Amino acid sequence: MAGFASTADLGEKTISFDELGAGLYAYTAEGDPNSGVIVGPRGVAVIDAQATPAMAADVQARIAGVTALPVTQIVLTHYHAVRVLGAAGYAQAHSILASDVTRALIVERGAADMASEIGRFPRLFRGRESIPGLTWPTESFHRRTTLWFGEREAQLIHIGRAHTAGDTIVWLPRERVLFAGDTVEFGATPYCGDAHFTDWPGTIAKLRELGAEKMVPGRGRALLNAREVAEALDGTAAFTSDLFAIVRAAVAKGADLAATYAEVMTRMRPKYGQWVIFDHCMPFNVSRAYDEAGGIDHPRIWTAERDIEMWQALESAKG
Ligand SMILES: [Zn+2]
Repeated sequence: MAGFASTADLGEKTISFDELGAGLYAYTAEGDPNSGVIVGPRGVAVIDAQATPAMAADVQARIAGVTALPVTQIVLTHYHAVRVLGAAGYAQAHSILASDVTRALIVERGAADMASEIGRFPRLFRGRESIPGLTWPTESFHRRTTLWFGEREAQLIHIGRAHTAGDTIVWLPRERVLFAGDTVEFGATPYCGDAHFTDWPGTIAKLRELGAEKMVPGRGRALLNAREVAEALDGTAAFTSDLFAIVRAAVAKGADLAATYAEVMTRMRPKYGQWVIFDHCMPFNVSRAYDEAGGIDHPRIWTAERDIEMWQALESAKG
């Protein structure tokens, strides 16, 4: 199908590798999924593995430019394929950490999600033949755990439901650096196909309380001062609450999904249409918001087949 999701998006992005502080780096890619890097005294931790082992090799090439130490730990902020399937590319990683909820979501829907995400956005899976299969955490935690890098503390906090039910952030309290995963985006449209709209603002309020001075969002460039951090938090909160308010009102007056989608697009495009992947995300976002407004708490699983069915339904309604 011509134009389904982001199958026609083939433009390569420029990678940036920015230092946030001693031994702390942001690997960002103009709105493609980011990774975070913490260089410890005996090894390196990578936050979000990238989509394929081939792409993980590029992260490690950047790391090799700043330290000879290998990547020994991987932190998964959530279960999405584009974040986790590169984990096998870190040959010396002895641990892969995730929240217990993220692990449960991999069990429940990891395979379906892998097929769905590759079908939607093939460019994001460069070298996908290098993926050996699903990524399984070697350690999971309930609410939080701490990694120590010498005297440096990195708190892994399953902060609350937002982008997914299992969202985890990595917070360095002394350095005031936050690796936010997809709970916060900057200049990029939040993907909400597996989201919890009702909870997302409360999760962002908790992130605000941390008082970060630097942040690596899930997508978008590294944010290097408190003002930029606040802008990212405000933007993500406004987008998700605007979207859900429009959908809730539409559901309350009995609108069907296609009519709801049309209304959301008309009202949100002027303010958010310039954010990358806006047109890609919105059909999935509105579908999930429509479900949640209708009382479905646990997001329905996206499959390659459901993706295309939904897309065709909404595109044909658009006329
Ligand atoms: Zn995600």
